[in-house]
Amino acid sequence: MAFLVVFLGWWGQGQLSIVTVIATLRAAVDGESFSYLLYDPFSLVIWAIAIFGFVLWGRGLFCGWFCPFGALQEISHYVARGLKLPEVKVSDRLDQRLKYLKYVLLASLLSVVFIWPAYTDRFAEIEPFKTAITVYFMREWYYVAYAGFWLLLGAVVFKGFCRYVCPLGAVMALGGLLRRRDWVARRAECGSPCQLCRVKCNYGAINQTGKIAYSECFQCLDCVKIYDSEKTCVPLILEARAPTRGKKPT
Ligand code: SF4
Ligand code: SF4
Repeated sequence: MAFLVVFLGWWGQGQLSIVTVIATLRAAVDGESFSYLLYDPFSLVIWAIAIFGFVLWGRGLFCGWFCPFGALQEISHYVARGLKLPEVKVSDRLDQRLKYLKYVLLASLLSVVFIWPAYTDRFAEIEPFKTAITVYFMREWYYVAYAGFWLLLGAVVFKGFCRYVCPLGAVMALGGLLRRRDWVARRAECGSPCQLCRVKCNYGAINQTGKIAYSECFQCLDCVKIYDSEKTCVPLILEARAPTRGKKPT
């Protein structure tokens, strides 16, 4: 995570942004050239990786492994755990609703682009990437306070900005619709009766039936570790104790 923030973010300036999505959309609608993308080859490579990831894994490759601001929030969360600060768990019901907020914000942002283009830059500041990554928090105090707010919130609510607000995350989730395979293995017992992975998934990306919501999966691999371990996967533990009760993986 530190490598992501320092190398990819602060040093390489490879934080992808909704601003690029907006500019590309505008260029497509206005019939203009996309050559401006070549001015930032490092980010272009990361976009290519993210798009490649859509097909194989969904949004998780970028959001889980390549986003510097996502990593900053995760660092903030684990520092808070180390300091024994309280953690707020969003209820399932609220979580299910808040997840849609990022799509509403993305739709609002795209509406602003075409209806009030003069306000686009201001609205795009909803993502604090420019403040936290591009200009190293050296900006007017209110931008710094805004970025700091999300990092502090991330300390108590695990990656609250990513899960509920980020318009780029919404784009990544939509891009993830290109995914061609279900890469997270599941067993017949996942969901009924076993809820272990669902409870352990910090992103709320496993629903009660045991099915993976890939649009919310950040590819953290926690459930993959549980699935593969005879010490943690409940059906495997039961199978080891009473072999005849076990069922084969699906
Ligand atoms: S949701 Fe947004 S901030 Fe979070 S990892 Fe994805 S792009 Fe980065
Ligand atoms: S625990 Fe599994 S489903 Fe949840 S985010 Fe991690 S990899 Fe995805």
